[in-house]
Amino acid sequence: MKLFRKKGFMRGLSLFLLIVTLLCYLPGRTEAAKSLSQLKKELSELESEQSSISKKIKNLESQEDSAAEKKEYYDKEVSLLGEQIAVYEDIIGQYQGEIDTINDNIAALETQIAVKEHEHDELYDKFKLRIRVMHEENLSSYAGILLGADSFTNLIERLEAIVSILKADRDTMSKIETMAEDIEADKSALATEVAALEEKTAAEKESKAILDEKMVELEAKQAEAAKALKEISDQISTNEALLKKLQKEEDQIEADIKKASASSSSSSSSSSSSSSSSSSSGRVPTGFLKWPLPGKTYISSYFGNRTHPVTGKKNSNHTGIDIPASGGTKIYCAAAGTVTKSCYNKAYGNMIQVKHSNGISTMYAHMNKPALYKVGAKVSQGTVLGYVGTTGWSTGNHLHFSVLNSSGSYVDPLNYFK
Ligand SMILES: [Zn+2]
Repeated sequence: MKLFRKKGFMRGLSLFLLIVTLLCYLPGRTEAAKSLSQLKKELSELESEQSSISKKIKNLESQEDSAAEKKEYYDKEVSLLGEQIAVYEDIIGQYQGEIDTINDNIAALETQIAVKEHEHDELYDKFKLRIRVMHEENLSSYAGILLGADSFTNLIERLEAIVSILKADRDTMSKIETMAEDIEADKSALATEVAALEEKTAAEKESKAILDEKMVELEAKQAEAAKALKEISDQISTNEALLKKLQKEEDQIEADIKKASASSSSSSSSSSSSSSSSSSSGRVPTGFLKWPLPGKTYISSYFGNRTHPVTGKKNSNHTGIDIPASGGTKIYCAAAGTVTKSCYNKAYGNMIQVKHSNGISTMYAHMNKPALYKVGAKVSQGTVLGYVGTTGWSTGNHLHFSVLNSSGSYVDPLNYFK
């Protein structure tokens, strides 16, 4: 009896506990069900918001494409005009060289003229002196010579001798005068030539000045195009950041839904698909690359996730490393191979890609001019491929250096240097 009563008490207690448990549990269950529907509503709102932002990004990206095309157009125009200006500079330099040579010749002739003029003056002084002496002596010397003749024939001979002395003096003087005049004529001919060359130079300089002016305008337009491109890219990055934020919220809500539906019912159907990042790891030889910019060891941007300096995209996967260097710095091929790409790319600007015997490729971007080698060319380790520049999506002179594995995926270049 005592035992039975105890059993009854135990049964009553467990029933009481069950009721308490149910009372505690039931409100929780209602709350879970309520938030689940609310969560699903929030999720669908988020999804529609995301799709409108994705649309906006798509639209901006097409604007970005046309802005990039415009920038590419101005890049090409600037380099073309630069080539034309260089031609004028060549011609002007050539003329200047000719002018310098002729001016040297004129200087030499001036020295010769001075010498001849001096000779002429000296001779003339002597001649004058002789005339004066003869005059002062009342021509006594000539008269004496003549009076000393012992025959008429002898007199004539002496007279002829005097005349020929006078004539020789006069001939010498006129010869010197003629020589001086000839030199003077040569000099003036050369001066005329210089004047003609200077006129031609001035004309070329004028043509060049017009191109220089055009260059200033073009460079302003190029900068404007770069600015427009950046503005669009900024908008894209802002929207992408927003999208990312919304995606994060969505992930959170999806996780909450999973939790809520798992606790509310055992038969739950998974609705979210999660993508797992696949880390591809292929065995590749290391240390076979030589640094493409000897002496330039600072890396301004590493491989992988970062904020893109031009587009400002937050999550853009940087396909290589950026090595800053001044414009025109030589870019050396990192390993021997064959050129597989040599072109202008709206993002990479002037670029070249080289495939190496082990299947790995190296890529060099933003070069100031088209690469020095075309597709199919064989290049060695250390071959100069081109020069550092800032073409394409770039905010300053630097080399963007990428490494692609044999399946064509970008990998961290730093794994291939010793
Ligand atoms: Zn880069």
